[in-house]
This record gives sequence, C-alpha cells and structure tokens, in this order.
Amino acid sequence: MKLYTNNDRFMVWQVKQLLDQHNIPCFIKNEFASGAMGELSPLDCQPEVWLNDASWRPRAEKLIAQMNITTRDEWVCSNCAETNGGNFEVCWQCGQEAQVDQ
Ligand SMILES: [Zn+2]
Repeated sequence: MKLYTNNDRFMVWQVKQLLDQHNIPCFIKNEFASGAMGELSPLDCQPEVWLNDASWRPRAEKLIAQMNITTRDEWVCSNCAETNGGNFEVCWQCGQEAQVDQ
C-alpha cells in the first residue's frame, strides 16, 4: 500500500531511510520515473514510498509525524517569549516544552 508521496524526491528518500532504520519493510515506486523520456506527466510519476504490509502503517505514520516535528520552523516559547530553533524540543532559555501551533 502507498504510504507517502512528495514532489521532493529528497523527502521521499528521507522517509524511506527512516523506515529502514526502524526495520519497517518498504520500497520506493517511481524512483526513476521523472527521468523517463517525458512519456508520463510529472504528476503521474512522483516518487512514492510503499509499505510491504499495511499492518505497519500506524507505526510508519507516527515516525513520519515525528520526523516533521524535527524539521519545523523556529518557534517562540510560550513562557518566556524566547525564539528557539526548530530542532529544539524545549526552550533553551527556561526549559518550557515546545508548543506546536495547529
Ligand atoms: Zn522559554
């Protein structure tokens, strides 16, 4: 089953590597399609990450969600208003946990 797709091939590979690190069986489809002689439109050949077994999906989606958190933009501490880099899970100034805006 298809788990994830993105125009950005780098993001697709990041997801694949993440799943590999957690021993979740998966593979990439359309890996080379966008270079294929212009026979397909770009929308038809986005690289995709597929799971071998749908039972892995909840775990895989959780990992992807966590990956997105680590690449978020800067955030402002709700406690002391300090600006923190996206890779910080807690405020470097006061230790307040990051609040992710919805
Ligand atoms: Zn703070």
